Amino acid sequence: MKKALITGNRGQDGAYLSQLLLAKGYEVYGADRSGDSGLWRLRELGIESRVKDIYMDILELSNIMDVVQRIQPDEIYNFAAQSFVQMSFDQPILTAEINAIGVTRLLEAMRKMCPDARFYQASTGELFGMMDNIPQSESTAFYPKSPYGVSKLYAHWITVNYREAYALHASNGILFNHESPLRGEEFLTRKISLAAARIKKGLQDKVSVGNLEVRRDWGYAKEYVEGMWNMLQQEKAGDYILATGETHSVREFIEAAFSAAGFTLEWSGKGLAENGVDVKTGKTLIEVSKEFYRKSEVDQISGDASKARAVLGWLPKTKFNDLVSLMVDADIKRLEKTGCAGSV
Ligand code: GDP
Repeated sequence: MKKALITGNRGQDGAYLSQLLLAKGYEVYGADRSGDSGLWRLRELGIESRVKDIYMDILELSNIMDVVQRIQPDEIYNFAAQSFVQMSFDQPILTAEINAIGVTRLLEAMRKMCPDARFYQASTGELFGMMDNIPQSESTAFYPKSPYGVSKLYAHWITVNYREAYALHASNGILFNHESPLRGEEFLTRKISLAAARIKKGLQDKVSVGNLEVRRDWGYAKEYVEGMWNMLQQEKAGDYILATGETHSVREFIEAAFSAAGFTLEWSGKGLAENGVDVKTGKTLIEVSKEFYRKSEVDQISGDASKARAVLGWLPKTKFNDLVSLMVDADIKRLEKTGCAGSV
């Protein structure tokens, strides 16, 4: 039985990957530092009791060394991160400690304690910030636009460096935005799917958002974890983009989500004074607020996943509108079941 150590396994990707690896017969160890909290995703997937809980803090090298030595994992997946771009502007140093140096600690532990293991680093499309090369491929120059992106750039290169310097099997998955009903509520997609569901159920009047024109490449997270696993099954480690290649604006996401909840929106006003109005009732459901604008923004990213397709046979299947609908439906169902969103 293969053993996998997943850091940050209570997040969206960690939860889906745990589910996938359990189905493949792995023994799954989930490393986290938050005690009993944040287990709702594993609970919702029905795998909470099957994942072995390990206390581990990515800031503490001795702790990581102990865990890696004790478990002797065959595969290590690193999702431990401060993953909110917006928050990284307020906490740039903590973001770097966790996202950049944290990866080095983990790689050091692997190099010393289990050099034959295989390593996956959660790299990101946020490494790309320039519009002049769309879609972005593995050979596009990086230009991160946030402390989050900059910290992930270090993490990306230290993973490449340990692969080259120490011959470790270490791979980067450069994932573009990947969403699901298990996405945290701080991210645009889940914030909107939840708001559309709550407004439909009369639990909320409206929602405030930031820049409506930003474009993202949104895929379905459940499919992306299959690509991650696939990377570690290759004879040679490497770096791969996982993305749909399609972009949609924040405005389009909002329109699709509210349509899935049964509303038709009409836009009125401009800039910060723009509103999304329910055609049927004339009520304002969407407001634009400065609070949700970024200090510097990646206006558009979209990824070219042809290397992943050619080498790993990986292909995203779920289309944008289906992804939006499945997120809104899941939030409506949660509200009907529990009266709250279930994400505690
Ligand atoms: P990110 O791409 O990893 O930063 O994922 P997010 O889901 O947090 O943001 C996606 C895009 O939506 C970014 O370009 C944000 O600037 C934009 N956006 C617009 N309004 C909002 C909002 O209210 N919340 C968030 N999180 N993002 C928003």
